[in-house]
Amino acid sequence: MIKPKKSLGQNFLTDKNIINKIINFSEINKNNILEIGPGTGNLTRKIIEKKPKKLLLVEKDNLLSRNLKNEFKNFNNVKIYNNDILKFDIEKNINKDTIIIGNLPYNVSSQILIKLIRFKKWLPKFKRLVLMFQKEVADKILASYGSEHYGRLAIITAAKLKVVDYFDVSPNSFYPVPKVKSTVLIFEPIINKDYKVKNIENLEKISHIFFSRKRKMINKAFKILFKEPEEVAKKIHIKLSLRPTRLTICEYFKIAKFFENSL
Ligand code: SAM
Repeated sequence: MIKPKKSLGQNFLTDKNIINKIINFSEINKNNILEIGPGTGNLTRKIIEKKPKKLLLVEKDNLLSRNLKNEFKNFNNVKIYNNDILKFDIEKNINKDTIIIGNLPYNVSSQILIKLIRFKKWLPKFKRLVLMFQKEVADKILASYGSEHYGRLAIITAAKLKVVDYFDVSPNSFYPVPKVKSTVLIFEPIINKDYKVKNIENLEKISHIFFSRKRKMINKAFKILFKEPEEVAKKIHIKLSLRPTRLTICEYFKIAKFFENSL
């Protein structure tokens, strides 16, 4: 019996209905698939049943990775990397039109999402993401302007991805049972017509400057970003007395565009 490691966010998905639901959102047959954190293989076995073209698995845990290599050694289309997904070169290793699936380790789930958003080539080599997050993080990704969870994660994600569907998952669907609820989000990459991102790290930087001063007026953030903050604000019709949560996603895109052009 495997002893789940808390440090690696090991909550294994045991609920067959949820496993099937994830599989149904993933269009596996004849597609290239990457599974992040396959663990004990609960999802992996179902993925293989659906006959993917090629399946890459990236698992950090040495023991689990060894078990998977052993279990799937006769499948020529399955490749297992015993690696940390945060260090793994996803962009280089996946094929075009890959579907990325993962019941993510919650301690690094937003870092994984950001890594996918940072792909250099856009549209990227993945065509769909089916990822499970802790509900609290999913709420931040889904948050729209005006909602209590609105912030950086919603803004950065909206620049590059569209959430096409989502559903909640109860803690009882896992072993061990986590303390929190989960949500599966299904994303597709987009080219946002309001913001042709030159470098997503600029938007990350800008949103960080604003939201690390969440309760302050945005004139402080403008001063950090621009030599002539008042002029810039006037040009893009933004009031400097607002707080960061009162700017829409499009307004953040406008600031980022202006910042990128001023570099
Ligand atoms: N997919 C399995 C399931 O649904 O039952 C396991 C999901 S569990 C929430 C997360 C998995 O990711 C674990 O197997 C864990 O060892 C693995 N993991 C944790 N951190 C990782 C990392 N940085 N890179 C790759 N895998 C990681």
